[in-house]
Amino acid sequence: MDLLQDAARRANLYLNSIHDRRVTPTPESIAALETAIKTELPETPTAAETVLADLDQFGSPATVASQGGRFFGFVTGGTTPAALAASWMISTWDQNAALRVMSPAAAIFEETALTWLRGLLNLPADAAGAVVTGATMANFTGLAAARHALLQKQNWDVENDGLFGAPPITVVVGGEVHVSLLKALGMLGLGRRRVIRVPVDGQGRMRADSLPPLNETTIVCIQAGNVNTGAFDPAAEICEAAHKAGAWVHVDGAFGLFAAMSPQYRHLTTGFAQADSWATDGHKWPNVGYDCGLAFVRDSEALRGAMTMNAAYLPPGAHRDPCHYTPEMSRRARGVELWAAIRAQGRTGMAALIERTCSHARRFADGLRAAGHTVLNDVELNQVLVTFGTPEQTLAVMRRVQAEGICWCGETEWQGHVAMRISVSSWATTEADVDAALASILRATQ
Ligand SMILES: *Cc1c(COP(=O)(O)O)cnc(C)c1O
Repeated sequence: MDLLQDAARRANLYLNSIHDRRVTPTPESIAALETAIKTELPETPTAAETVLADLDQFGSPATVASQGGRFFGFVTGGTTPAALAASWMISTWDQNAALRVMSPAAAIFEETALTWLRGLLNLPADAAGAVVTGATMANFTGLAAARHALLQKQNWDVENDGLFGAPPITVVVGGEVHVSLLKALGMLGLGRRRVIRVPVDGQGRMRADSLPPLNETTIVCIQAGNVNTGAFDPAAEICEAAHKAGAWVHVDGAFGLFAAMSPQYRHLTTGFAQADSWATDGHKWPNVGYDCGLAFVRDSEALRGAMTMNAAYLPPGAHRDPCHYTPEMSRRARGVELWAAIRAQGRTGMAALIERTCSHARRFADGLRAAGHTVLNDVELNQVLVTFGTPEQTLAVMRRVQAEGICWCGETEWQGHVAMRISVSSWATTEADVDAALASILRATQ
């Protein structure tokens, strides 16, 4: 059989059986993969058909079924059919999305997707955009633009002269800042530990009344969607205070920013459009495949200043060349998948995805409370934190749920509680999935 036909056949079989299989692979299938794959380096060629057969026979059973409807760990979306088909096409085209001359197609799809996203997310129409690998790199990208802009105002050219001897920049974060933002600060020379942490309220929101003194060398990092509770920082108040002082506001909105796509949830994102840079993820709530992150920067010159590069063979084109806005040069044409995902669903479909997953989260919370368990957070979004007694009892419930394999939820420690974290982020989750998962969780408490 034709190799690509066979790949499509195997992919279809995989997706068609995903709803009936265990969410996590069995230890036996993981062991079988280890044994079959970790061989000596092959000396001679193997037919591509055999390579594909090995991939499917040993690889598929050892995957986590995050493409099904019952994986609620971390903040994990699936891939919508249009996004998956687009991913096959861009792998087929093998386009390099660094420069427009290398792929006019990649550049045009990407520009369109970015324009549509600025509309869906209620961001300034002239903000610069970058399609990167995830929210970690999107945080890096937004913060690099912030570093560039604030130091330029101090007459310091950070890209050419580095940070040694530069005027110091103060970074302000919330007490429940995501670790990826700290990692980005580390990579930028701004320091993971060299931050001022602002106290948070009972949902993990930064307290606007506890901000330190701000000035024109301060970056304030706020969150749209706390990774545990889903809560939003008070963006309007913080942006106003920061801008009065000349500070820069960066938003980590890895998933929460997408609440803006729904008329029902948009109010949660009020004020976030006032910020200066935004980081978010295509591979979480919008259900585009891995990997896909997005950075937006209000002052496009700040992003360009941080990311541009010059070489004799890089012609200054009349069009937007993506590599002047991203940390990478050569890269996959991720913008095509984003375009396809949005085109297939439209504004109403994207809103429905947000509303459906949030309503599933409430169904979880209601079912757990009805059975007498404690839901720790206000379930305003797609995140549910629940405890089942002592930390040991909660962990034991989690282990039983994970072992049964009907669904998967992970653990977290939040404001002094050990909790199970349920994140409903997949387009594929149905009410029946929620009910099956609830039943499994409640069985595990007995
Ligand atoms: C997931 C997440 C990140 C990191 O995103 P990656 O795509 O894994 O790099 C950052 N911030 C928040 C709030 C997140 O939920």
